Amino acid sequence: MPAHDVRCAQCDLLQRLDELHAGQQASCVRCGHHLCSVPLHPFDTPMAYALTALILLLLSCAFPLLNLHIAGVESEMTFFSSAKALVEADFGIVANVLLSCVLLTPAMFLCAVIYLAMALKWSIHLPGMRSVLRLAIRLEPWMMADVFVIGILVSLIKLASLAQIGLGLSFWAMLLFSIALTKTVTVFDVHWFGFQLDHLDGLPAQQLREKGAKSCPVCGFFNAHNAEKCGRCHAKIYSRQPHSVAMTWALLLTAVLLYVPANVYPIMITESLGDSVPSTILEGVVLLWNMGSYPVAIIIFVASVAVPLVKFISIALLCIAAQSKPGKSALHYTKLYRMTELIGRWSMVDVFVVVILVALIHMGKLMSVFPGVAAVSFAGVVVFTMLAALSFDVRLIWDAHPSNENK
Ligand SMILES: [Zn+2]
Ligand SMILES: [Zn+2]
Repeated sequence: MPAHDVRCAQCDLLQRLDELHAGQQASCVRCGHHLCSVPLHPFDTPMAYALTALILLLLSCAFPLLNLHIAGVESEMTFFSSAKALVEADFGIVANVLLSCVLLTPAMFLCAVIYLAMALKWSIHLPGMRSVLRLAIRLEPWMMADVFVIGILVSLIKLASLAQIGLGLSFWAMLLFSIALTKTVTVFDVHWFGFQLDHLDGLPAQQLREKGAKSCPVCGFFNAHNAEKCGRCHAKIYSRQPHSVAMTWALLLTAVLLYVPANVYPIMITESLGDSVPSTILEGVVLLWNMGSYPVAIIIFVASVAVPLVKFISIALLCIAAQSKPGKSALHYTKLYRMTELIGRWSMVDVFVVVILVALIHMGKLMSVFPGVAAVSFAGVVVFTMLAALSFDVRLIWDAHPSNENK
């Protein structure tokens, strides 16, 4: 890839990206944000991983994920039976979260990667390639197959003392699928794909150094200061996300409000031999701790209680830092922002555990598990904190800290 000018998507520094060869990568000179990497086999590798992941996704839907034996009664769970059990329990909204985050967004993302890689490899013009690129970038944060796999493992340990439990064929497919999906995400370099797309369309490489040139918030493409739509992915562009801080505050407040019912109300209800035992998130943690499953108790505590609180505090700190001029350097806050983005999805693990238990344990009066209202509120907490982090324009931090530019 020839040398060209770029603006860093996180600190907004205008810099020269040197010529990159296969296997090389470049990061921002000021904040260290990843700018671009050129894979060794730029189109074959993403295509191979994406195809593998797509096949594994189909396999993980085809067979049982888990099976369970309690007192001679057998039960098994497939991916779709877990969604069906939620719909039957009137928790269709959680079923939607499950289907979207574990099945739909990854499937669409993988198809998008294959579509683009095919077109670029064989230099063919396919319709809507720029919109497909934008879609793939937007879907990326919402894929949670790896979180679901952790959810299965946690359920497995939770149930191990109660019943005989076995892993189904689809569990292994799901595990490999989540690995292949993660690999696809790492080899799908947005900047490189976008650059090749421009090359395919015969657009000249951007050499903009004019004052006020704006980088696209979605794909990072460098646009002239008066451009309204991104030249590469056609997203609406702006120098800073409009009302970013106000929007982030509003979404954060919604998440904080939902956090109250998520902890006060039961996340699931266990019915066994006429007894109905509701349990909240914290009660679940205490139960696991008392059972001696310390690692799982810690995982659930960290994912469901600590991570949301840490996210609330860090998003609030970021908003305050963007509005005032505190002592810490802009780089410090940028790192905080990256951490917030990274940990967000993992809170969904407890919701997935409830989903799995509901689908697996439905043996009438002997033992049945039902979802509690907190499952909906908690899924809401995760979604709204993720939206809050996504709506925050981290470049505002660098605007508020002009004196820290060289740190
Ligand atoms: Zn930077
Ligand atoms: Zn763009």
